[in-house]
Amino acid sequence: MQPLVFTPFLRPMLWGGRRLAQMLGKPLPPEGTWGESWELSAHPLHVSRVAEGPLTGTYLTDLFPHFPLLIKYLDANDWLSVQVHPDDDKAMSLSGEPLGKTEAWVVLDVEPGGRIFAGIKPGIDRRAFEQALHDERVTDCLHVYQPRVGDCLFYPAGTVHAVGGGVLLAEVQQSSDATLRLYDWERVGPDGRPRQLHVAEALAAIDWSRGPVDPVDGTPLPNLPGERLVQCRYFVMDRFRLKDPLNSPYSDQLSLWMVLHGIAELTCRGYHHTFTRGSTVVLPAEVAHAVWHPAPSATLLGITLPKP
Ligand SMILES: [Zn+2]
Repeated sequence: MQPLVFTPFLRPMLWGGRRLAQMLGKPLPPEGTWGESWELSAHPLHVSRVAEGPLTGTYLTDLFPHFPLLIKYLDANDWLSVQVHPDDDKAMSLSGEPLGKTEAWVVLDVEPGGRIFAGIKPGIDRRAFEQALHDERVTDCLHVYQPRVGDCLFYPAGTVHAVGGGVLLAEVQQSSDATLRLYDWERVGPDGRPRQLHVAEALAAIDWSRGPVDPVDGTPLPNLPGERLVQCRYFVMDRFRLKDPLNSPYSDQLSLWMVLHGIAELTCRGYHHTFTRGSTVVLPAEVAHAVWHPAPSATLLGITLPKP
């Protein structure tokens, strides 16, 4: 097997913009606001297919029958709803999805007005939160800050969050579409009506023990030009800032790579391909001796599944 590239699934969104094309090279139609590029998905809403090479057209799920992650780029040009995702135990009852959603973001670009709301401020209990929701000032209850390029946010299921004002993100999450909206900024959809909220379900999904969420402090990886950003029961996420070639540190296991900044060439036996910012590449476990060559520098995200 060789490295695999899949066709992105581009989604128009009320809150989207044009940066998926401008900054990440996604083939957007000339008009409209686009919020998400689903890079790798086995979710029934859209299953990714191989874009090039001998396996062109093959579904991700035919190659990896239990692919548990959903990987996206996200342009939060305007505001995403204030939302929470249920955990695995509550996902079916609260949102009709078989799996919950734990997710992580890495910030790729920020406009001056870009903000992230992450977690509930200290001292806000459920009663105070419900009162604020009723008074349409729920954002007063949330920890907010201006993100910087490179920030990584980790949201275990049950963490209230929102983002907007011009923030471009890479997102890694469980393969689930279980999103519960608490507040949608008094906004109406293309049909002139507000999008549906799920306040009761969202309140039941919130992990009230979880306070403010600040960016992750990565842990250096021994003998590698990288750091571990997230290690949870669903995925492991490492970041590499390359000036010199990197032998893929994930031998004999499936790894997923996102080019966050710069340009890098990937080589392995009989294969070489240059990837620019916004690319996503799958390295099947069978691929040996894969090497990333930055040209001349690149920041890569390496995503793997936790070993059982
Ligand atoms: Zn979310």
